[in-house]
Amino acid sequence: MMRRNSMTHQVKLDHLTLQSTLADLPSHDFLVGPRVLGSVVAARFEAEPELPGVVIRAGERLVGAFSRRQFLEKVGKLYGIEVYLNRPVAIMVKNIGPRHIALQSTQTIQSAAEMVLRSPANFFEDALIVVFPDGHVALIDVRVLILAQSHLLGLVTEIEQQRRQLAESMQRIGRELSGSLELGQVTKRILKELNKVLSYERGLVMLADGEHLKTIAKRGFPKDIKKHDLLIPIRDDEDDVFRRIVESREPIWLDDVTGDESWTQRDDLPVNYSWLGVPLKHQGRVMGMLSLTREERAGFSEDDVRLVQAFGSQAAVALENARLYDEITHLNNHLEEMVSQRTLELNKAYEILERLDKNKSDFISVAAHELRTPITVMSGYAQILETLPVIQGDVNNKMMVGGINTGIKRMHRIINSMLDIARLDSDTMKIHAEPLLLPLLLGKVGMELTKGMAGERRVALDFSAVDDSLSAVLADPDLMQKLFHGLLVNAIKYTPDGGEVRVAARETAVDDEPFVEVCIADTGIGIPPESLELIFEKFYQTGEVALHSSGFMKFKGGGPGLGLAIAKGIVAAHGGKIWAESAGYDEERLPGSAFYVRLPIS
Ligand code: ADP
Repeated sequence: MMRRNSMTHQVKLDHLTLQSTLADLPSHDFLVGPRVLGSVVAARFEAEPELPGVVIRAGERLVGAFSRRQFLEKVGKLYGIEVYLNRPVAIMVKNIGPRHIALQSTQTIQSAAEMVLRSPANFFEDALIVVFPDGHVALIDVRVLILAQSHLLGLVTEIEQQRRQLAESMQRIGRELSGSLELGQVTKRILKELNKVLSYERGLVMLADGEHLKTIAKRGFPKDIKKHDLLIPIRDDEDDVFRRIVESREPIWLDDVTGDESWTQRDDLPVNYSWLGVPLKHQGRVMGMLSLTREERAGFSEDDVRLVQAFGSQAAVALENARLYDEITHLNNHLEEMVSQRTLELNKAYEILERLDKNKSDFISVAAHELRTPITVMSGYAQILETLPVIQGDVNNKMMVGGINTGIKRMHRIINSMLDIARLDSDTMKIHAEPLLLPLLLGKVGMELTKGMAGERRVALDFSAVDDSLSAVLADPDLMQKLFHGLLVNAIKYTPDGGEVRVAARETAVDDEPFVEVCIADTGIGIPPESLELIFEKFYQTGEVALHSSGFMKFKGGGPGLGLAIAKGIVAAHGGKIWAESAGYDEERLPGSAFYVRLPIS
């Protein structure tokens, strides 16, 4: 190594950190009194090439300081030897003037270097002195200070770079870990990914489970040691490592486990001297820990701990996500099970209902058939009875037999309705379809009712909105008569005396299919919205059962609740649609109802 450069080359800077002060830099002592001759200083400079300058002190008083360069420059001048070498240094101090830079030893290298670089004087020429707290004064080579500063700048960049690299790999690990949601996979992956950034002998992911730490993933263990063998009790002892981790929520590491009393070493595992435990935290709560070992003593550095700590927070998030996912999957499975169980029950109930409905239909059919015979007999005899002179000749007798006949007729109607329903239920309703002009049919039904029920109840029937030029529909005339008769009777029945029923009929098209649409609108009591569909079910009445004994023609006079079910069956059998509209049920405001029937033209 060349002597000239030795000064700066030999300077050791590796020990410096960002917090280092001037006291950590090499300094030089060269103090002389003011009366010392310049030649003495020159000789010393000659002997010690590292000396950056000289301090001149009179007792405790600092007279001045000058750098090697300033000194040599003065001496090298014409008469320099004459003026300076052979005379006291005080003369040189006087000529150069007080130009040195004084710094405190406690100042950081960074701030000192900044100060020197910012000072207006030519700092490379001026002497740099450090004052220690005890008053001691030393010289520092300005080049060493600058070198130290640039070394620290490099350190900063390196730290920055390390930080960025760590952040990047943590990000990548975070992605890797959250890529999988299955708890078993996530835990295995944690140890695998960790091994990529930090080597270790044995690793465990453990979760707190009551009074134990349960192992959910292991790495580096012999195959015959199973996860459930690695169950660690959390001891009721403040020295217990996990308890310490939970309480401090900070990592703990042991440089030599054999020296730790709270450590239990398994006989079936080789001793790994260093141990590191890092808490896995979720929302501030410690849910488990990462446990790592290394074979050598003091195997984990502070940097390693920080790295594992950063990794642990990523792992904790991934674990928590996987746990939630697990929970949801469980819940889903449970829900699915419950749904299929309920579906099964519903299906069973539905089957039972279907059977019951079938029983009811069978009963209706049987009862209707059974009742028809005796009623026909009764009807025959009653009609004969009516013609007998004994009856004809007596007003009371005539009235009584008349009553019997009306009753029989009403029973007949009910039995016929029951038979219709039975046929609809068993799909045995026969349709004898022929081209039918609805305006004619509606007119005939209307006329009949005006003469009878509508007239009696003073309910006006208005057919003016029936389009007479309507196309013919292909339909069974008897069934159509039954349908519209039923709807008109209902309209009159549920409209108070003096009301009005308006019938409209027009051609329309739905999805290019031509239909005839008939609307029967009344000014009656209306229908509650919740009943608009239910009224088409058989035996459904919104009215009170108590009114059923009242006359068939009467306002709100009850029926068996079969009329609209039959109407729906007839319309369906013709490929049409029936529905009701109403603003609601109100016997005072009388919102009215409208029944629509749509029948295909072709
Ligand atoms: P019901 O034999 O009771 O008249 P329906 O099947 O013909 O049986 O009608 C079922 C129920 O629908 C009736 O009890 C009645 O409450 C209601 N309803 C039918 N038509 C009308 C209408 N035009 N206005 C108000 N309510 C009606």
